Amino acid sequence: MAQVQRMSRLMVKTLRDDPADAETLNHKLLVRAGYVRRTAAGIWTWLPLGKKVYENIARVVREEMDAIGGQEVLLPALLPKEPYEASGRYEEYGDLLFRLKDRKGADYLLGPTHEEIFTQVVKDQCSSYKDLPVILYQIQTKYRDEARPRAGVLRGREFQMKDSYSFDTTDEGLAESYALHRGAYQRIFERLGLDYRIVSAVAGAMGGSKSEEFLAPAPAGEDTFVDCPACDYAANTEAVTFALAPVDGSAHGPVEELDTPDTPTIETLAEHLGVPASATLKNLLVKVDGEIVAVGVPGDREVDLGKLGEHLAPAEVELVTAEDFEGRDDLVRGYVGPQGLDKVRYIADPRVAPGTAWITGANKQDKHAKNVVCGRDFEVDDYLDVVVVEEGDPCPNCGAGLKLDRAIEIGHIFQLGRKYADTFQLDVLGQQGKPVRVTMGSYGIGVSRAVAALAEQTADDKGLCWPKEVAPADVHVVAAGKALQTELALDVAEKLGAAGARVLVDDRAGVSPGVKFTDAELIGVPQILVAGRRSAEGVVELKDRRTGEREEMTVEEAITRLT
Ligand code: ATP
Ligand code: MG
Ligand code: MG
Ligand code: MG
Repeated sequence: MAQVQRMSRLMVKTLRDDPADAETLNHKLLVRAGYVRRTAAGIWTWLPLGKKVYENIARVVREEMDAIGGQEVLLPALLPKEPYEASGRYEEYGDLLFRLKDRKGADYLLGPTHEEIFTQVVKDQCSSYKDLPVILYQIQTKYRDEARPRAGVLRGREFQMKDSYSFDTTDEGLAESYALHRGAYQRIFERLGLDYRIVSAVAGAMGGSKSEEFLAPAPAGEDTFVDCPACDYAANTEAVTFALAPVDGSAHGPVEELDTPDTPTIETLAEHLGVPASATLKNLLVKVDGEIVAVGVPGDREVDLGKLGEHLAPAEVELVTAEDFEGRDDLVRGYVGPQGLDKVRYIADPRVAPGTAWITGANKQDKHAKNVVCGRDFEVDDYLDVVVVEEGDPCPNCGAGLKLDRAIEIGHIFQLGRKYADTFQLDVLGQQGKPVRVTMGSYGIGVSRAVAALAEQTADDKGLCWPKEVAPADVHVVAAGKALQTELALDVAEKLGAAGARVLVDDRAGVSPGVKFTDAELIGVPQILVAGRRSAEGVVELKDRRTGEREEMTVEEAITRLT
């Protein structure tokens, strides 16, 4: 028998007004409907109704991860710093990382994501190619000291993520594990009732299928993506927009030609730069065959050498390094403009860089590439304002006008390759009896963020409006009247529960029917069943929360309909 939850005993305090600090729809509604409570900036308490929605999402994620052979584990959130030092991320994460010390003064961190620790687990547990492939996952609390923890559970500093990691011995194996995840993610988001797009998350030149994001279009989203109406091209603007990099040697460091052997590799590149092959660099611009494949700039993005992968192999590599760039965040700034939806802008303030600014494209569209010279194209006292991607810009695949939209990143899948395996020397004994370096993928879903994304996409002017699979109950029974109706409502609720429905019943005494209806609409259970005037005759009213359609029927009919 499914659960019957009585409102009279449920800890839920609905609010008529939006919380003062709430900017987004999900934040307002989840707080007003009593799903979550803010404990501190970006730190949330899940109240009973919110916990139910959260667990429903987690259940769907688990079922689909299990279906592709994922094995659930649980790793600690409190982690020693050494593995993250080995990968370089202890430093690279900068302020995003929560760092702490134990009583002996040893350094720890709260895990922002777990590639390092999973690599160590597999190194410890798997020794032969026969032990692979393996997919491990967890649904776990993550910590990131986000700069702007706004928008409710959409961007927490403590949040819940499903993260999984695949371990294979071959590139084909990795591609297969990636494809399995891609399929599982499609099924998960379809079952959850989320409208989503799969977009390329890295610049085209770096290999479109190596990293993809699952984006849920919503005005509250903090990502912007382009979508082609004529072909299947879709990409995060992070992957198609442009970076500003100063190239004037005097002010910004030398432009270097890399003297490489015939087939430069990550190793030769790393050696040239004097950094480990797993390094992530901020002050680097990499061109392959004259085309920029990666740009690292302070305060914006970084170049991950490991991710450049085989794209370096047959190509001519030219490096532009800029030591003087370090710390000069003022030289380069990328942000989504005040128009929000329609434009992404990169703005350089030439006053801090008198001389030459160079603006160039990070994707294949040279049309955006532009050389800008101070004094010719703008005055020192002017702000230079360059629109990078606009609605209607030509699709790089087919030339049709691109559409630009805002979205929430709900999932991200990544072919990591051997970056972490190299760091931790993760080898298994291969078929030929020799050690083989393992190749990895990592895959994330924001489980707590999905609650917010669903609220954003499905709510209407009356309140939340959950899809069936994630709703905190299947039916919300409202006792609209006095003691008799309450008794009848409880009776119907018990019958529905016995027939397998998850029921929320509003049996609160001293609360007017009007308030109960308003609350039911705010809480957003998909079906509302009203035990009112005619319930003594065995007739109730069933109302569809989304469409508002009402229908009178007998209790028996209602039970058949709802179970
Ligand atoms: P964002 O671009 O929104 O900061 P991210 O790219 O840093 O996210 P990933 O490292 O790819 O995030 O993590 C995997 C998933 O975890 C994301 O796709 C997102 O759904 C979720 N996630 C990331 N950061 C947060 C956060 N601060 N609060 C809630 N969910 C998050
Ligand atoms: Mg982030
Ligand atoms: Mg992101
Ligand atoms: Mg991401």
